[in-house]
Amino acid sequence: MSSTFLQTPIDYLKGVGPNRASLLKKELEIHTFQDLLNLFPNRYLDRTQYYKIGSLLQTSSEVQIIGKITHIKTIDQKRGKRLVATFVDETGKMELVWFRGQKWIRENLKINVPYVIFGKTNWFNGTFSMPHPEMELLDAHEKSIRSAMQPVYPSTEKLSNSGITNRVVNGLMQQLFLEAKKGFSESLPKPLLEQLKLVSKNEALLNVHFPKSQQLLARAQYRLKFEELFYIQLQLVRKNLVHKSKIKGYPFEKIGENFNSFYNDHLPFELTNAQKRVIKEIRNDLGSNAQMNRLLQGDVGSGKTIVALLSMLIALDNGFQACLMAPTEILSVQHYNSLVELCNELKLSISLLTGSTKTSKRRKIHENLENGSLNILIGTHALLEDKVKFSNLGLAIIDEQHRFGVAQRSKLWHKNEFPPHVLVMTATPIPRTLAMSVYGDLDISVIDELPPGRKDIKTVHRFDSNRLKVFRFIRDEISKGRQVYIVYPLIQESEVLDYKDLMDGYESIVREFPPDGPEPTYQISIVHGKMKPADKEYEMNRFIKGETQIMVATTVIEVGVNVPNASVMIVESAERFGLSQLHQLRGRVGRGAEQSYCILMTSHKLSADAKTRLETMTRTSDGFEIAEVDLKLRGPGDLMGTQQSGVLNLRIADIIKDSEILKIARSYAIQVLKADPNLASEENIPVKRTFAQLTKYRNIWNYIS
Ligand code: ADP
Ligand code: MG
Repeated sequence: MSSTFLQTPIDYLKGVGPNRASLLKKELEIHTFQDLLNLFPNRYLDRTQYYKIGSLLQTSSEVQIIGKITHIKTIDQKRGKRLVATFVDETGKMELVWFRGQKWIRENLKINVPYVIFGKTNWFNGTFSMPHPEMELLDAHEKSIRSAMQPVYPSTEKLSNSGITNRVVNGLMQQLFLEAKKGFSESLPKPLLEQLKLVSKNEALLNVHFPKSQQLLARAQYRLKFEELFYIQLQLVRKNLVHKSKIKGYPFEKIGENFNSFYNDHLPFELTNAQKRVIKEIRNDLGSNAQMNRLLQGDVGSGKTIVALLSMLIALDNGFQACLMAPTEILSVQHYNSLVELCNELKLSISLLTGSTKTSKRRKIHENLENGSLNILIGTHALLEDKVKFSNLGLAIIDEQHRFGVAQRSKLWHKNEFPPHVLVMTATPIPRTLAMSVYGDLDISVIDELPPGRKDIKTVHRFDSNRLKVFRFIRDEISKGRQVYIVYPLIQESEVLDYKDLMDGYESIVREFPPDGPEPTYQISIVHGKMKPADKEYEMNRFIKGETQIMVATTVIEVGVNVPNASVMIVESAERFGLSQLHQLRGRVGRGAEQSYCILMTSHKLSADAKTRLETMTRTSDGFEIAEVDLKLRGPGDLMGTQQSGVLNLRIADIIKDSEILKIARSYAIQVLKADPNLASEENIPVKRTFAQLTKYRNIWNYIS
């Protein structure tokens, strides 16, 4: 069927007047025939089975029964009138009930004639009843060609109130298929259909809207899910390939003095296999002619820093500069310190540039950057200021940034012919299937192994009523020289409340851990969102230096700080935190040699989801496993923020349930594009056509961002 037919405005479908058209547009975004065609049912009612009244279960949901009405009466009660019919089959009797349209129904119901009824049953006082059943005379039912599995389409209250019921939508769909006399054209290449034994587009559409059996429906759904995921992946993979072929980068062909000397003589520990693998992947990228655009995922503590350093050394060995950008001053300082220490034996020039760098120092840095004598620059967003001009930036590493753009937009490499290679590091584990969709246009490296000898962080859940015991535990740990985090939730909408919670908590902790009086006394830091950045830094630094034993904070400490001596993480109102947040918070401890603890405090009132989150946290410390649970609980849109949800706005596939199909779709998308990058071959004609349509009629396949 030609695409012009499918682009026909929905107003032109028989049965759709201006009124219905405007409702369909407003409520379901159905503007064209194609939009209607792509309105896939949410679920199906099984009309292949007939139940007997005598064997109905209280748990039965929607059932279909053959029987007769024996008599009808109207019951008038305080709450209103209702029409009740007694319905019997050879096994028993039940009631059919109507609250609306009673007059019309009463006049039309036939006594002692076989009906097929369908609907939800209720069970009350030993009798089953069915409110507002769908009914059809058995005679007519047997003659109708309605399909056995009845689709239930997405709807809204407004639609059903305006008479656009499921039955009406179903009718419109039938009309659409009638008008599309020649059927719908194929959108996948033939060899692919054969290899994967997929049903044709036409058959799939027919069976998804008018399924003849469970089996045919399943095949239809599989085919359509595959197609949806295939085209998303095709788009992402293509973007990646185009990027690689169009955006040239400096090939770092040499592995030289800095890298070799560090790798052979100065590695402070043996690299894990995952670190080795990832470094190899990065080396390959850097050695090619394309600009690297790589996401490095590794759980907290998995050892991303050393990977960053080795990558930077490759840049240096090829005569280029490198930079590392972190989201906060504290993180930049920590990176700077650890890199300077690691590079102790190498003759490198490394500087730190942040908002608080003094003017004279700043000037010197600018100068050394431009004349090329500075090798590595570490810092905050201050790196992106206009005055910061590298002589030849070859590699930009961004830490803890979910999505970049920053590096691409910046003027970092204004003198370069090519943009620098970009490596983004994130400690937020993203389930693989989700990463494929959201970051499908990037290359991804994963460090999925922690360095050996890491002690597990003991994680427990405690109710608020056990607070005194928890305080005692804190006191014991501090007496051993440890430090403690106590974190309060911060949720934007109720900032005032959160602030009050935090301050109440702080006061009770000060009472419990007094700063003066008889020994032992305690020093407490507090950090929250309402403080000036400079004050925050000051308090953080006191804690980092060990001048305070307790850090009371809102989630501002979430990202990246490293205080190895802190061994206890208390999370207050833990039920209000998301899983990934809890995981990040827990990652703040367990960084030193001591046994560390994470205590999740909650009230007794817990939702089912909150229970799952707490159970998951106490069961596992595997960031990817936690991310999978998080994905199941929250759904992909929430997990990635609204920004990316467009990519995930799927019509028929489900990114969680259909992850296997997604993997297959991605591998085939890669296969198709590798073999035929321009989609020019005969067999890829349908792909090329569909692909062109996707870009042209964006509103239709709006799941492609
Ligand atoms: P993250 O991925 O969170 O940035 P880091 O790079 O800060 O992790 O590493 C966490 C800690 O583990 C550091 O103290 C680092 O020195 C250490 N580390 C990293 N890799 C290894 C390894 N292969 N063997 C032993 N310790 C390692
Ligand atoms: Mg780090």
